[in-house]
Amino acid sequence: MNKIPFVDLKAQYQSIKTEIDEAIQEVISNTAFISGKYAKQFEQDFAAYSGLNEVVACANGTDSLEILLKAMDIGPGDEVIVPALTWISTAESVSSVGAKPVFVDVDEYYLIDPKLIEEKISSKTKAIIPVHFYGQPADMPKIQEIAKRHKLRLIEDCAQAHGSSIHGTQIGSFSDAASFSFYPGKNLGAFGDAGAMAGNDLDLLRTARMIANHGQEGKHNHIMEGRNSRMDGLHGAVLSVKLKHIENWTKSRIKHADYYREVLKNTPVVLPKVMNGHRHVYHLFVIQTDRRDELKEYLGQKNIDSILHYPKALPFVTCYQNEGFKPEDFPVSYKATKRILSLPMYAELTTDQMDYIARCICEFFE
Ligand SMILES: *Cc1c(COP(=O)(O)O)cnc(C)c1O
Repeated sequence: MNKIPFVDLKAQYQSIKTEIDEAIQEVISNTAFISGKYAKQFEQDFAAYSGLNEVVACANGTDSLEILLKAMDIGPGDEVIVPALTWISTAESVSSVGAKPVFVDVDEYYLIDPKLIEEKISSKTKAIIPVHFYGQPADMPKIQEIAKRHKLRLIEDCAQAHGSSIHGTQIGSFSDAASFSFYPGKNLGAFGDAGAMAGNDLDLLRTARMIANHGQEGKHNHIMEGRNSRMDGLHGAVLSVKLKHIENWTKSRIKHADYYREVLKNTPVVLPKVMNGHRHVYHLFVIQTDRRDELKEYLGQKNIDSILHYPKALPFVTCYQNEGFKPEDFPVSYKATKRILSLPMYAELTTDQMDYIARCICEFFE
């Protein structure tokens, strides 16, 4: 068997090459490189896809979190609650605006544990950023209730969960605003860095749009100081093409996940749990085993890539070490990082590849 990569962006490109090449050529012919007509078109397409009123395209998913926090006037002296297990952007964006990220442990679904949020709320807390992690929506109804009771703003970090939903309602509509990343390896990925802010609060998103474009409303009308965080036209055009395929790709991911579940059910691995009514879109298929390191090594020998998401929970990464967190402060996240392994997961995986991966994992445990 040829090497099975963790993600195969080449296979995806090959499957839609003609459409993509035409779209890129069109952008170049029109020299609509920054914002402009193709980024605008993608904003409209993505709004229609997500069922949200407004989408503001920007340069990447980290910027989109940071700009939304800024637009909410969150800054020095404020605290923002984030999950302990997530990609660093969720916390980094909070620090970037001068506020302090406050970590909350995750639960058995790898999602911020709503039961543990309230004990972390202080008089300084201004917002919560739940992450729809690995492709599964966080428990938004419970989190909305907490936010309402304590008058906190809510930002959904949707970077890993394009197309996921709770009881049929798409993510992005459970908060004041949502943040998306279109990093190439995400479920919807550009050909470089790109992101978007989205939601139904038009005033907030109008401010966000200004911040992302030098504080301008119209050319040379700088209402405030902002920054440069716009989407490139090339990314907008690529994303509009890919958006037409994402539902099919998502269905393939779910099919692959079902297959993994079926063949691995008699092995000792812990399979991902899905909350009732939540549509998990499997950005990642994450299993747990206490023989994780051995299994990863074994799969590597069999030419199968696997990755850790992530090797450490955020309270334990170097840049937050001075806070002196202990494993028992975040027991679920801490323990998970010793046991988790992400298996190859993308729409283009073939039946042969899936069979081979499954067979190798079963062999390992025999
Ligand atoms: C990828 C990611 C981001 C940031 O996106 P970039 O576009 O890479 O800046 C934010 N949050 C989570 C959970 C992510 O996985």
